[in-house]
Amino acid sequence: MTKNYRVTLLPGDGIGPEIMAVAVDVLNIVGKKFDINFEFQEALIGGAAIDATGEPLPSATLDTCRNSDAVLLAAIGGYKWDSLPNHQRPEAGLLGLRAGLGLFANLRPAQILPQLIDASTLKKEVVEGVDIMVVRELTGGIYFGKPRGIFETETGERRGVNTMVYSESEIERIGRVAFEAARKRRGKLCSVDKSNVLDVSQLWRECITKLGKEYPDVELTHLYVDNAAMQLLRAPKQFDTIVTGNLFGDILSDAAAMLTGSIGMLPSASLGATGAGVFEPVHGSAPDIAGQDKANPLAQVLSAAMMLRYAFNEKAAADCLENAVLDVLQRGYRTGDIMSPGMDLVGCRAMSAALINSLGGI
Ligand code: NAD
Repeated sequence: MTKNYRVTLLPGDGIGPEIMAVAVDVLNIVGKKFDINFEFQEALIGGAAIDATGEPLPSATLDTCRNSDAVLLAAIGGYKWDSLPNHQRPEAGLLGLRAGLGLFANLRPAQILPQLIDASTLKKEVVEGVDIMVVRELTGGIYFGKPRGIFETETGERRGVNTMVYSESEIERIGRVAFEAARKRRGKLCSVDKSNVLDVSQLWRECITKLGKEYPDVELTHLYVDNAAMQLLRAPKQFDTIVTGNLFGDILSDAAAMLTGSIGMLPSASLGATGAGVFEPVHGSAPDIAGQDKANPLAQVLSAAMMLRYAFNEKAAADCLENAVLDVLQRGYRTGDIMSPGMDLVGCRAMSAALINSLGGI
């Protein structure tokens, strides 16, 4: 029987519409192969929404997202809206979307593709075979804890304050996402904290350890964040899935992603307890190359693959899309951002055609 999924498309700004068109084309092909029907609905976010409605996240967009099974987002932002006050900028649309959908878990894979190994700044023998998933808590910790602000003391000196805070339930729910993700991967989870200094991290470690008893098939380890940063650069292959809080995750997920060396290749997923998750590339709207047919659509396509895997549990379809990406790289096609000598330089549209060709052959 044909399965039906409602997907909200948020192309956004800059290269967003160009790379989204590629993702929609390949999803439709994969859908036909695996008896899946995608009901796409497009909505406005970011600068495009500001221009049309005056708001970066119109309520109609949030409603559409809430009524769908998943949200596929491209990117927002651009020079045109840079001078607006913070709460009216395109980025506010993104934060509003995460808050509005209760997305507390951010999943960022960092995988070295053999075809792009030279893009990494690290030695080949260090990064070869790296395949890491960083699960970052997204709506708590020091980015949201109170009190926060810049306060004047009695002596007239100013003090800047932020508060790192996690409750047991917040730790448990991100922990569950991470254990489940580890189960879908190689069954290893490393929890990162700073429990030798921070009380909040002691609670974190206690809760994750307790939760681990429910997942005896997942091998759980713990690292202090400073050591984790060092190990990521020294011996990244030791990691499978990493779980950590908002601040540590922000830094470590960028470090892990950069092991791969190519921003145009990195997908991500943000998930809540229930309802639609948001699947999007890690990169921004690349206004410097927008409208020039130079964008790399592969991170967007890999985000669509994550949607198939994590939102719909369509493993075979996700594998098919990921294999098509590997195949175009294997055949030597490269957009400018991942170009290396001897390869075939193509634009976004030609990369799309190559993907479609690969899907026909897989
Ligand atoms: P960016 O990721 O847009 O671009 C950084 C560099 O990488 C640029 O040289 C760009 O051309 C290149 N690049 C990025 N994605 C590419 C792709 N798919 N193919 C080829 N080249 C690619 O980051 P930035 O320049 O710091 O930000 C530009 C705008 O994007 C800003 O308005 C920023 O706020 C926004 N932004 C949005 C998101 C998001 O939507 N999630 C994330 C980051 C930045």
